[in-house]
Amino acid sequence: MRMSRLFLRTLRDDPADAEVPSHRLLVRAGYVRRVAPGIYSWLPLGLKVLARVEAIVREEMEAIGAQEVRFPALLPREPYEASNRWTEYGPNLFRLTDRKGADLLLGPTHEELFTLLVKDLYGSYKDLPLSIYQIQTKYRDEARPRAGILRGREFIMKDSYSFDVDDAGLEASYQAHRAAYVRIFDRLGFEYVVVHADSGAMGGSASEEFLAVSDTGEDTFVRSPGGYAANVEAVTTVAPDPVPFDGLPAAHAEQTPDTPTIDTLVAHLQERFPRDDRAWTAADTLKNVLVMLRHPDGSRSPLAVGVPGDREVDPKRLETQVSPAEVEPFGEADFAAHPDLVKGYIGPAVLGEDGPTGIRYLVDPRVVDGTRWVTGANVAGSHVIDLVAGRDFTADGTIEAAEVRAGDPAPDGSGPLELARGIEMGHIFQLGRKYAEVLDLKVLDENGKLVTVTMGSYGVGVSRAVAAVVESSHDDLGIVWPRALAPYDVHLIAAGKDEAVHLGAARLYDELRAAGLDVLFDDRPGKISLGVKFKDAELLGMPTIVVVGKGFADGVVEVKDRATGDRSDVPVDDLVELLS
Ligand code: ATP
Ligand code: MG
Ligand code: MG
Ligand code: MG
Repeated sequence: MRMSRLFLRTLRDDPADAEVPSHRLLVRAGYVRRVAPGIYSWLPLGLKVLARVEAIVREEMEAIGAQEVRFPALLPREPYEASNRWTEYGPNLFRLTDRKGADLLLGPTHEELFTLLVKDLYGSYKDLPLSIYQIQTKYRDEARPRAGILRGREFIMKDSYSFDVDDAGLEASYQAHRAAYVRIFDRLGFEYVVVHADSGAMGGSASEEFLAVSDTGEDTFVRSPGGYAANVEAVTTVAPDPVPFDGLPAAHAEQTPDTPTIDTLVAHLQERFPRDDRAWTAADTLKNVLVMLRHPDGSRSPLAVGVPGDREVDPKRLETQVSPAEVEPFGEADFAAHPDLVKGYIGPAVLGEDGPTGIRYLVDPRVVDGTRWVTGANVAGSHVIDLVAGRDFTADGTIEAAEVRAGDPAPDGSGPLELARGIEMGHIFQLGRKYAEVLDLKVLDENGKLVTVTMGSYGVGVSRAVAAVVESSHDDLGIVWPRALAPYDVHLIAAGKDEAVHLGAARLYDELRAAGLDVLFDDRPGKISLGVKFKDAELLGMPTIVVVGKGFADGVVEVKDRATGDRSDVPVDDLVELLS
C-alpha cells in the first residue's frame, strides 16, 4: 500500500476523551474513529488488525472442530423473554419496535438463538457433541462506555456454544475451548491470567475468565504463588461482628424470607463493587461472590457463597421457577472439593414443589455461648444444617464487606494473595441446562428417552483484543505491533527529494512484496520531511521500518526494529533476504 493513497490522517494531538494509551494511539494513528460514545468506525489499518485477530480466533476454533455460523444482530423479543433476559438485561439492552409494534432487540449475546437453532435441526444424541460459533457484532448499552474500543456499545465478539448430552460431554467441550483460548491468547501475545470468574470457590471450572494483565483494566484479580487466581468480583471480605445469640430457628419453615443479614451484605457489595453492566440483585450478587471472612484477631478465611452454575436470574424468578434439581449439586460435594473452605452456605434457596415457595432462606449466623454458628439451608433436602463455624461467622445485620487485601490467604491454601488489574478478554462458562430447559432443547438418548441438552458458552472480545494488544505493546512514540497482528510487516520510507532515491524505494517496494511481505510504502513527495515520515512510522507501529535515503547512493538503507529500537545499515541487495 502506498501511503500517498492510503485513507489515513494521523493526528498530532490526543483525542480529548482518551484516558488510556490504546484509545489515544488507535485514534491518533488512524486505526479507528469515534462516531458516538462507545461506537467506533474501523479505518483501513484498523480493519487489517481486526482481520488478523479474527483469523487467529477462527483457526483455533476450527482446530477444536467448532463450525462457524452467523446470526443476525437484530432479534425478536420472544426467545429473550423465555430466558427472562429481556427483563434481566435492563437498560443494557438496545430495544426497538418495528412498524407493526413488535418488540426487537440488538443481541448482547446469543445463547437463546443458538439453543433454538440446534433445537430446530437436531433431535438425537447421535447429533452431539456439537460446537458452533460466530464472529459477530454485539450491542450493549454500557453504562460507562470507555477507553475507545475497549468497552464499546457496539463491539465484536466471538461467541461459541457447545451442546452435549451429559455432564462429562460438557466438561470435555469446556476443556477443549479452554485449551483453544490458551492458544488464542498466547498468539495474541499479551500477558494474561486465567481466573475463577464466579462461584470460583464452588468447586471447579464452572466459569473462568481470561484477563489481560494491565493497569488500565477494569477488573481486579487476585492470585497466589500456588496458582490460585480469581476475579475479585468473586472475592470479597466480611468482618464478623458477633451479636448475642437469640435462639436458633426452630424449624426451616420459620426462617424469614428476607433476613437483614443478606440485604446488608448485598447493599454493601453494591456500594463497594458497583457493576457497570447490570444492576446487582441478591441472586446475582450471591452467584458472584466468594466471601472472605475477617476475624476479630485479624486473620481471614474464605467462606463460599453462591449458587451453582449460571444463575443469572432475578430473585423473583428464582423464587418461582428454580427447581430443586437445579440447586441440588450445591452441597457437601462442592465443599469436599475445597477442604479449606468454611462450610458455610449463603444462597437463595427454594423449597420443592410440595414445600412452601417464595422462601429465600439465606445464612443465619448466631453466637451460642461465645461460639459462632451459622445456619444454612440445604435446599435439596429442605432441611437446615447447622454448620459449625466457631471461628468464622458474623452476625445479623452487621456484616461489613471490604475489599480482599494483598496478603490474604488463598481459598485453596496456596499462599498469600497478590492483587493486580486486568482486562477481561475471554469468558468461558458451563451453562448447564438453563437455556436448554427454558427453550426446551431435548434430544433422544440411547434408550429413546428425551433428555435435556447441556451447554457451554464461550466468548472472546475480538475488537477489545485489538486495544488490549496496544495496551501491552506501545511506547511514548506510538504503537508497537507484534508481527502476528501488524497491518503491514514493513514500513518503507522514501526520504528526501532525490529522484533516484524515490525510484529505488519504489523498486524495493515491489521486490519486498514479490517476496511475500506486506509493505506500507511512504512514497509521499519530498516536501514531507523525513522527520514527519519517521514520526508517522513510529506512531503506526509496523515491526520493521526501512528508510531509503542518503545512504542509498552508497548502496545501503537503514533498517530499524520498532520494538527494540535497533538500527542498522543494510546493503540494498541484502534487504529482501534479511526481511523475508
Ligand atoms: P465486562 O466484564 O468487561 O463488561 P462481560 O463479562 O460483560 O465483560 P461477556 O458477556 O463475558 O462480557 O462477553 C464475552 C467477552 O466479550 C468479554 O470477555 C469481553 O472480552 C467482550 N466484551 C464484553 N463487553 C464488551 C464491550 N462493551 N466492548 C468490547 N468487548 C466487550
Ligand atoms: Mg459487561
Ligand atoms: Mg465481566
Ligand atoms: Mg464476562
